[in-house]
Amino acid sequence: MRSAVALVAGAAATLMSVAASAATLIHAGRVIDGVSDTPKTNQTVVVDGGKITAIENGFRAPAAGDRVVDLKSGTLLPGLFDMHVHLSGEYSQRSEINDYKLNEADIAIDAVVFAGRTLLAGFTTVRDLGDEYRETIALRNAIEARKVPGPRIIAAGKSIGTTGGHADPTNGWARKFPADPGPDQGVVNDVDDARKAVRQRYKEGSDTIKITATGGVLSIAKNGSNPQFTEEEIRAIVATARDYGFKVAAHAHGAEGMKRAVRGGVDTIEHGTFMDDETIKLMKERGTFYVPTISAGRWVAEKARDPGFFPPVVRPKAQAVGPQIDATFAKAYKAGVKILFGTDTGVSAHGHNAREFRYMVEDGMPPMEAIKAATSAPAKFLGLEDVGSVAVGKLGELVGVPGNPLEDITVMERVSFVMKDDTIHKTP
Ligand SMILES: [Zn+2]
Repeated sequence: MRSAVALVAGAAATLMSVAASAATLIHAGRVIDGVSDTPKTNQTVVVDGGKITAIENGFRAPAAGDRVVDLKSGTLLPGLFDMHVHLSGEYSQRSEINDYKLNEADIAIDAVVFAGRTLLAGFTTVRDLGDEYRETIALRNAIEARKVPGPRIIAAGKSIGTTGGHADPTNGWARKFPADPGPDQGVVNDVDDARKAVRQRYKEGSDTIKITATGGVLSIAKNGSNPQFTEEEIRAIVATARDYGFKVAAHAHGAEGMKRAVRGGVDTIEHGTFMDDETIKLMKERGTFYVPTISAGRWVAEKARDPGFFPPVVRPKAQAVGPQIDATFAKAYKAGVKILFGTDTGVSAHGHNAREFRYMVEDGMPPMEAIKAATSAPAKFLGLEDVGSVAVGKLGELVGVPGNPLEDITVMERVSFVMKDDTIHKTP
């Protein structure tokens, strides 16, 4: 068991279970608690039995058996949230062919590896917005049971789309393959299908619902931004989701599909690429959150410069969508749209989620706000009261970075300490 866990966590990480009787004293040069506007300096944060039991000025000397974490030259933060990942894959030039070659087990094992990388990058909670075979639900359960290390997963399971839409798993297939999926595989074409697809996700153990309200960049289909649901279908999905306690996330690039999703009652708009002033106004009125995924925009824009990287049908979409997300984020932030940190990692490589902080800051968001968008704000959105801030009584889900992210946001990309589930996964 230990060797399997160590294999996943990677050679750089140390994995130590903390004895129940001993406390962990984290000596932090600076604490950003996820809620306050100003950090505190020279603090001792005490974690005992998996919970934060004390926060004190100065560096408390350890009692016999206590473990000390020396983060005196760095900053301690709450464990980070990424509100948009896909743990079951990583886009590559093999993705199209892998669609025909990989079985559930191959994908599930990859997901375990990617979850380990995500945790070591400082992300202790993620919202996984779409898998294929329910593998992220199995992974969520395995992580909760502490069989494998990884972040807490809020799993959508299979995302819901329409025939030929961004979430149709059979796009681009030759006709000789059976390819008319229904609600069971997340493809709907009327309100009855829409209700059934949500109920199927409930049956499978999903935590949240993801719809693809418009075309997308990486699917084998021509249009990356057209509306792909009627507003009536979206309303049916949202109403059914509410019956089961689900929130609804909507992937959307084009403005018309985005507006239908917002008016239909979804909770978050993902990407939001061609968000116009009317959509911004509507989102503010309705309190809809925006998850920008600048990382995915920059990644597809960069890869589109290589003429051979994407399939021919994908490249023009990547060229149009990629560069626009930065400008949309800047505009939406200035206009006061509520923003949650999310990357769409799985498009770009796992473990680099924290680059999004740099992109958000480059596009006009102050570092402290970007940190709150990845800590207390998503915790509140998800109703997770035990996490998202450094405070007495909260779970000891903590992350350390070298230096001061308020002066240099790129230190978020060099996480040196990770604690979750009463285990230190990475030591400074
Ligand atoms: Zn996505």
